[in-house]
Amino acid sequence: MALKDNCGRPLLNLRISITQRCNIHCAYCHREGEVQRANSSAEKMTLEEIVRISKVAVSLGIYRIKLTGGEPLMRQDICEIVRCIAAIPGLRDISMTTNGILLDTLAKPLFKAGLKRVNISLPTLNLETYNKLTGGKLENALAGIKAAIEAGFSPVKLNMVVLRGVNVADVPEMIEFARELGVILQLIELDPVNVSREYFVKHHRLLDEQEAILRDTAVKIETRRLMQNRLIYHLPDVTVEVVHPTENSDFCMHCTRMRVTSDGKLKPCLMRNDNLVDILTPLRNGATDEELKELFTKANLLREPFNKSK
Ligand code: SAM
Repeated sequence: MALKDNCGRPLLNLRISITQRCNIHCAYCHREGEVQRANSSAEKMTLEEIVRISKVAVSLGIYRIKLTGGEPLMRQDICEIVRCIAAIPGLRDISMTTNGILLDTLAKPLFKAGLKRVNISLPTLNLETYNKLTGGKLENALAGIKAAIEAGFSPVKLNMVVLRGVNVADVPEMIEFARELGVILQLIELDPVNVSREYFVKHHRLLDEQEAILRDTAVKIETRRLMQNRLIYHLPDVTVEVVHPTENSDFCMHCTRMRVTSDGKLKPCLMRNDNLVDILTPLRNGATDEELKELFTKANLLREPFNKSK
């Protein structure tokens, strides 16, 4: 039985930042809402600590875990982390969001370790725009996507944060690319987290226009009720999901997530840092599973919709 918060929202998903380190630096990156940037090469949580937190989470009814960061593939022990989490009884789904840069060599071992689906950040197919926006090389991300498909990941989702004045015009090309590859495209609205107010105002763009086109061409439209009521547009031969969080009370009312920061704090909401619950320190001080469960319960009760319905 899943935990429920004071608004009746079940807690089903955990998003764990397993590192703050990254091999690119996307201009728009929200860093999963963590304030501080990585300032050392040492990871804050060990493999054992990540797995223990995951086990406690699953014992409380959380059945989906997503690994994020930073860039999760920066960790040397990433395959072991996946293997141990995938083996937790009761967990139905382990996934990862990655920039794909290191996936070329890691896709197969990760698949073997138990990762079956992956989200890969791809804001554009334009070489220069990609490099300017991320500091990375597009060819590496594309090689990672190819390797993920070949390794058997299903689905592979491409995460495209849509930015006004940068990549809005690339959306049709990205849909075509997803169709050719047989992958899902996820269009994501820019979150106002860890970007300056100026950057947000300049680049934030509601996806209304894109959604109107998708609505007209879709053969079927679905709603992911347990995933913030996100809409899924099934077009002929390709699926496009839209993530529209900004000032969206419906999105928040259907949030079933909690985060774990890279330094071991339970984070009830992406948008806030004033209600974190430290779980790593008690864990290191010898807390029992029951005591760790209590910390989850406490953090769960601090969950509340950031955008409330009026
Ligand atoms: N490095 C990994 C990656 O690129 O997927 C994991 C970390 S990244 C913060 C996780 C996801 O957040 C990516 O899909 C990325 O596109 C998305 N993201 C990053 N900054 C965002 C922002 N300001 N608004 C909305 N989504 C964002």
